[in-house]
Amino acid sequence: MDDNTFEKTPITLLGLGAMGTALARTWLTAGHPLTVWNRTPAKAEQLAAAGATVARTADEAVAASRLVVACLLDDASVGEALAGIDLHGKDLVNLTTSTPGEARTRAEWAHGRGARFLDGGIMAVPPMIGIREAGGYVFYSGSRALFDDHRSALEAPAGATYVGEDAGFAALHDVALLSAMTGMFAGVTHAFALIRKEDVAPRDLAPLLVDWIGAMGSMVHLTAARLESGDYTSDVASNLAMMVAGNATLLRTADEQGVSPELLIPYMELMERRLEAGHGSEDGTGLVDLL
Ligand code: NDP
Repeated sequence: MDDNTFEKTPITLLGLGAMGTALARTWLTAGHPLTVWNRTPAKAEQLAAAGATVARTADEAVAASRLVVACLLDDASVGEALAGIDLHGKDLVNLTTSTPGEARTRAEWAHGRGARFLDGGIMAVPPMIGIREAGGYVFYSGSRALFDDHRSALEAPAGATYVGEDAGFAALHDVALLSAMTGMFAGVTHAFALIRKEDVAPRDLAPLLVDWIGAMGSMVHLTAARLESGDYTSDVASNLAMMVAGNATLLRTADEQGVSPELLIPYMELMERRLEAGHGSEDGTGLVDLL
């Protein structure tokens, strides 16, 4: 702890899984008085040695600080852990991954119990927490006043990006990025499968994939501009008719390599539907409308 401990906001943290433990260590290092609680008490032992106060119950933990952070498995576990606990005057920050709907319902639930509420979606894995250069950050939405009041505490583990008063927006942004990541990893999985039985080292393909994904990533800006203008056909460099024809080559290659096309097919079918509806001169933006 540093000499400024007395100036740092006391924090209560509920949940000491991989993410909660990383958060706890960062707040302790930054000098925040920290009270922790975990359903399985053994996980708190190392943090106690590092200076955390360990509460025996969630109730006791919540009572210890105005700022209460939950980082539990899912929304249901938040409801379970906080059931029947007095939240009057508390600032509840929920870093548990939720859906936008769950976050909105949880915000109403917290307001009904007298607490201010901020939802967070963590865009980092535990080893990135507390390491500024790692680039991790948290989307926050809900009470702007809570965010402003506790900003320095919230920024200790990772960057803080506030996306609106609607409590569901942090989860919406979080899940939008995670969903894009899922598609990206599906493509990477297929790419590695294609070379699996060939004399091509995965470590040699890896940097090529990274560069290609980076180069293609900038297309996201074009899609956003087209969605906003409604113009899907001006200056199209790669039209849908050409891309659907190209898909056949991807599928024949998968067949030659003995690789299941199951990760590619759903997206390709969507492209075909858009083409059959007469949109062959568009780029891929129309698939957003189709979904
Ligand atoms: P873990 O599985 O490591 O930990 C889960 C935590 O939730 C444990 O503290 C567990 O307690 C607790 N828990 C589960 N069910 C209940 C319940 N019914 N009542 C009380 N406590 C419960 O998960 P992480 O720490 O990795 O993740 C926590 C949150 O952070 C999740 O919402 C996750 O999506 C999010 N997150 C995680 C990332 C990661 O890479 N790890 C990345 C970004 C977000 P116990 O120890 O008793 O089982």
